Amino acid sequence: MTPVTKAPVTPAALQTTGLGKSYGQNTVLRDITLDVQRGETLCLIGPSGSGKSTLLKCLNLLEAPDAGEIWLGETCLTAPGADVDAARARIGMVFQHFNLFPHMSVERNVTLALTSVKGMGREQARQIALRQLEAVGLAAFADRRPAQLSGGQQQRVAIARALAMEPELMLFDEATSALDPELVKDVLAVMRDLASGGMTMAVVTHEMGFAREAADRVAFMCDGRLAEIDTPDRIFERADHPRLRQFLSQVL
Ligand code: ADP
Ligand code: MG
Repeated sequence: MTPVTKAPVTPAALQTTGLGKSYGQNTVLRDITLDVQRGETLCLIGPSGSGKSTLLKCLNLLEAPDAGEIWLGETCLTAPGADVDAARARIGMVFQHFNLFPHMSVERNVTLALTSVKGMGREQARQIALRQLEAVGLAAFADRRPAQLSGGQQQRVAIARALAMEPELMLFDEATSALDPELVKDVLAVMRDLASGGMTMAVVTHEMGFAREAADRVAFMCDGRLAEIDTPDRIFERADHPRLRQFLSQVL
């Protein structure tokens, strides 16, 4: 796709225009125009099947959109010949399932992309890994295997692994949904710290408390559309979109 729009003078961290995606006959994303400003935390909420995960995967180019554009700062990711690997290295992603390598230590899980993708030396990578593990409260676990950690600790390792790459943007897709309830809070605390520390984040979540407190804006997705986007206050307190009200009445 040839870019239609030009990068604005002061670009958002992320901007999509008219993003569309279908799987065969099933149209999953329809005309999604969305921005995430630098330092902003945008929470994406909506019913199951509304396209939230597909949207995040398109942002990270794990899925190719069929229509529209994605801009990461001044780089058009959907332009022909765009350097997809370079773009992906600028975006950190944390999934519901942490996908740590079970046969590697926690530290090696965090250093792997630094040494293999960034070509960094092992010692420098180790320093970065220890700093990131410290930030998520897990420096003491560097030599353990993932299986020796709780699910919440493993998810914090996955966050440390993403942060070690110094991403401009972090994407979270239901990062706490697979965790036992008592483990959710430590992961949300790390995400809250990141948000208040100025990280740019797009967070798909069912944790309405997190969305209300940590988000600068909340986007409600419904049937592949961006149905509402507004401040948490207006989304949660003054929603007038009927589908949003229905959704909130089910989850709150
Ligand atoms: P959400 O994350 O909001 O639950 P998804 O983005 O996972 O929604 O899914 C949106 C729709 O796209 C669903 O109808 C789902 O079945 C469909 N879908 C998602 N991924 C694929 C895929 N790889 N192939 C075919 N259909 C898919
Ligand atoms: Mg999903």
